[in-house]
Amino acid sequence: MEHPEPSQFRQAVSRFTTGVTVVTTVDGAGKRIGMTANSFTSVSLAPPTVLISIKAGRTLEAIRSTGKFAVNILPAFGKDLSIHFAGRPSLGSAPEFEPTGGMPKLLHAIAYFDCKAMRFVTVADHTVLIGAVCACTHEDEAEPLVFFSSRYHSLAN
Ligand SMILES: Cc1cc2nc3c(=O)[nH]c(=O)nc-3n(C[C@H](O)[C@H](O)[C@H](O)COP(=O)(O)OP(=O)(O)OC[C@H]3O[C@@H](n4cnc5c(N)ncnc54)[C@H](O)[C@@H]3O)c2cc1C
Repeated sequence: MEHPEPSQFRQAVSRFTTGVTVVTTVDGAGKRIGMTANSFTSVSLAPPTVLISIKAGRTLEAIRSTGKFAVNILPAFGKDLSIHFAGRPSLGSAPEFEPTGGMPKLLHAIAYFDCKAMRFVTVADHTVLIGAVCACTHEDEAEPLVFFSSRYHSLAN
């Protein structure tokens, strides 16, 4: 089977506009960890189910171990958080979290989904992680960070 060049595929798929999330969990020592991901989608309403597709790394390894994760949807002003959790630490101070009964919730997340990992499906160089949503919250008026064509945008521009 023929495939497009990775750069061609990357550019084409970047034309699909998404929000930006930080997927969080805790490691074996109970320390919060997270990573930026925009491969988030809802799968089913009843029961509430979501998925993310993530590559091998610290966060995936920790989710495999705890069986739990949370998805934090970033606000319009969350570009620095996105860059930070994509492995280029750029924040002047440590990211702030809000207390919850579940996995780590970022302060200012405009929506939060606390999930139990149901299935891990490894496909090529990523793992599709399907999560049952145990709890979720959202802000009514908040604007999202938008990602299109490998750049950050807001709804207004
Ligand atoms: C817009 C965007 C969308 C992306 N979407 C995806 C996607 O859908 N799937 C995918 O696989 N990759 C995606 N990436 C790439 C991904 O975010 C990076 O590859 C990331 O570094 C992988 O994280 P990691 O846990 O594997 O490892 P790491 O690189 O070790 O962790 C991520 C970064 O977060 C920091 N960090 C973690 N926890 C904390 C904490 N508690 N306090 C302070 N700092 C902390 C770490 O220091 C590190 O710099 C995306 C990147 C961007 C910019």
